Amino acid sequence: MTRTTELLRVVHAHPGVTRADAARHLGIGTGATTELVARLTQASLLAEAPAARSGARGRPTTALVAHPSGPVVLAAQITHRAWRLDTVELGGRVVATVSADHTGTGWSDVATGVAGGITRMRETHGERVRALGIAAPGPVTSDRRLDATTSGWHDVDLHDLWPDAPLLVAGNDASLAATAESARGAAAGAAVALHLLIEYGLGGAVVDQGRLVIGAHGASGEFGHMPFGDPAVICPCGARGCWGTAVDGTALARHLGQPSPADPVSYAKAVIASPAPAERAAVTMAAAALGRGIAGLVNGLDADLVVLGSIAADLLTAAPAELHAAYQSGLMAIRRSSPPPLLPAALGPDGPVAGAAEAAWSALLGQLVPR
Ligand SMILES: [Zn+2]
Repeated sequence: MTRTTELLRVVHAHPGVTRADAARHLGIGTGATTELVARLTQASLLAEAPAARSGARGRPTTALVAHPSGPVVLAAQITHRAWRLDTVELGGRVVATVSADHTGTGWSDVATGVAGGITRMRETHGERVRALGIAAPGPVTSDRRLDATTSGWHDVDLHDLWPDAPLLVAGNDASLAATAESARGAAAGAAVALHLLIEYGLGGAVVDQGRLVIGAHGASGEFGHMPFGDPAVICPCGARGCWGTAVDGTALARHLGQPSPADPVSYAKAVIASPAPAERAAVTMAAAALGRGIAGLVNGLDADLVVLGSIAADLLTAAPAELHAAYQSGLMAIRRSSPPPLLPAALGPDGPVAGAAEAAWSALLGQLVPR
């Protein structure tokens, strides 16, 4: 990595960093840093802003920020109901956003909407737009094809959204949300973070030293299909006893003796919000099943932090004592004295779009070279 790329990475990770702190991050002298900053400022890649003095006797210093006419990336988040497109500058600040609902009837509807949004953003920001990152509701192959079975979108070519994109990156929304939580959210600074998200099933990701563990085929993170559940229950994936079937909306319905819900996400949210004793008991059982499985993963992965998203976070809020008790009792004794904390996701529903922006920026940073 060149020093210019390194400095841009430092400013992206710590927008507003002082020139002196940036020099320390890079391990180079202040003179060399000043020269580097001058080159990047001249190339419209960085700008300097006045920074607060450090203490009464501190010399005035400057903070390094994104250049007002510097490069930006577009970050798209596509769900089964809506899409959103953010324009994001160096350092992660969103400078513009546009969003709309879609009918969900076909991919062409969604593609037309998103492509229109991209055209509008490019009309506003012109040549500054240098990359597109996409967070998609399903697995994305390395040639950017999406299969979102729950939405009925099969073998969709994401290049169609912007065929001439100078740089296109795409990924599954849960994985990208995990990347964002590790970069700027609840898992910032963790060595090995385990991310778990319950919505339509249980999925997640492992982020090791800031790097997403993607697996040999890019499909890791299917933690919901580990056999931590009841072997009497057959999962839609075909296996018995999948963990996901013990913690999601279908699990709550089974505990309550109700039919499997058509929309397990809103069903789970309603059950978790209910104060009725039968619902409380069902929530307690799901929370305990979640805690037990997390203990198994923490034992196996030696994670130092666990981030819970969506319904997993709701279960933590609704039944913290039961969830923690099951977690503690499943941990190996050597891990029990300082169990890795269980934290709700900090970015919430903004996680996937923030992750798409991070992925686009991380691909773009190495290409930004001052002439
Ligand atoms: Zn399964």
